[in-house]
Amino acid sequence: MAAADGERWRDLDMLLTRQGNVVGPNFQPGSHIREFLADCRVLLVGAGGLGCEVLKDLALSGFGNIDVIDMDTIDVSNLNRQFLFRMQDVGKPKAEIAAARIKEHVSGITVTPHFCRIEEKPISFYEDFLLVVLGLDSIEARRYMNSVMCSFLQYDDEGNPDPATIKPMIDGGSEGFKGHARVILPGLSPCFECTLWLFPPQTKFPLCTLAETPRNPVHCIEYAKLVLWSQQRRGEEFDPDVEEHMQWVFKKATERANLFGIQGFTFQFTQGVVKNIIPAVASTNAIVAAVCSLEALKMVTACSTGMSNYMMYMGGEGIYTHTVAYERDPECLVCSPGISFPCRRDMTLQQVIDIIKEDERLGTGLEAPSLSCGSTNLYMRGVLEEATRPNLEKRMGELVPEGSVLQVNDKNLSRTIRLRLAYKDGVDEDMQI
Ligand SMILES: [Zn+2]
Repeated sequence: MAAADGERWRDLDMLLTRQGNVVGPNFQPGSHIREFLADCRVLLVGAGGLGCEVLKDLALSGFGNIDVIDMDTIDVSNLNRQFLFRMQDVGKPKAEIAAARIKEHVSGITVTPHFCRIEEKPISFYEDFLLVVLGLDSIEARRYMNSVMCSFLQYDDEGNPDPATIKPMIDGGSEGFKGHARVILPGLSPCFECTLWLFPPQTKFPLCTLAETPRNPVHCIEYAKLVLWSQQRRGEEFDPDVEEHMQWVFKKATERANLFGIQGFTFQFTQGVVKNIIPAVASTNAIVAAVCSLEALKMVTACSTGMSNYMMYMGGEGIYTHTVAYERDPECLVCSPGISFPCRRDMTLQQVIDIIKEDERLGTGLEAPSLSCGSTNLYMRGVLEEATRPNLEKRMGELVPEGSVLQVNDKNLSRTIRLRLAYKDGVDEDMQI
């Protein structure tokens, strides 16, 4: 990694200082692009198996100002693939160690670690980045980041996204020998929520199958965990991290398997089923991370047009990749222009919240909605409640302009809802309150 400076960027300069047939629109070759790359702020979410690879790839591709956020500490079981970590790092924050290791190897780079949950950062924290790369393993964390990045998106009166408000996301994922990399340009390409159907719901078995006709080890394990536990250990909550609980489920599942002549499972397999553990494969992470980093480079430098928009990789039997252009969901509540919400300029925020709570288009009634507009908190629950409470008495016309999109969050909503404000002045039957 310590090549002489002239040599160091030779390969990168091949891409950045020459014209080509596949360059993006407005691409102006020159060394200024490398300078821009070294300065622009990008955020990496996750410093685990994928994250370590992405961080290394971004650093070696010329990105010189990277923030990395991760809430986890290093476990001994990570060391086989999360190559930035050593035995002496076990127990320390992943983000901090990953940042320190990269800085040791790549001179002149700035890597800023954040050891916390993504939800702990204010929304405005995320607005400062030119682009975000996600190296996550949870759907919930992806949905959260997606709703944050889509919340910056503004539409003009004709419903066209304002390019200055588009915050690109590159999402990688790996599961055993399968992986994906995708580019999300809110307002232009499908967001995570538009294509949520790509993630099949977790397999659930009908109870009658588990109880009467178990056919495989998984059925026996599920029966032991769901049915036998609640019958025989009434009042105790099952905790997969307690060894004795897991041993108990394993023993009961084995007894049941023997009863039905089902064979072939181990304690480890039981753990895998109960905890829903998916094996992590280092080579899959490396491939997915390489695609993500390359897309980041293309996006920031325009040295090539980007991927459109979802690449899947299958390495289980041979190697196969395929790229599909998925389409946006025009009704998507997270990235679409939003549901039209007529109201009067002279209504107070409190009155608007009361209407929103009863709005049938939002499904079941909301309990305690929080409202924001772009990066401005209008009324928030929790720690910001006191600071935003004075807004409740203010009139909508003073708080937000016509056409603004309000983001509504509530514990009864599984995601952020966008309401596009359309002011109606004068007396309107529907608007009487
Ligand atoms: Zn969407």
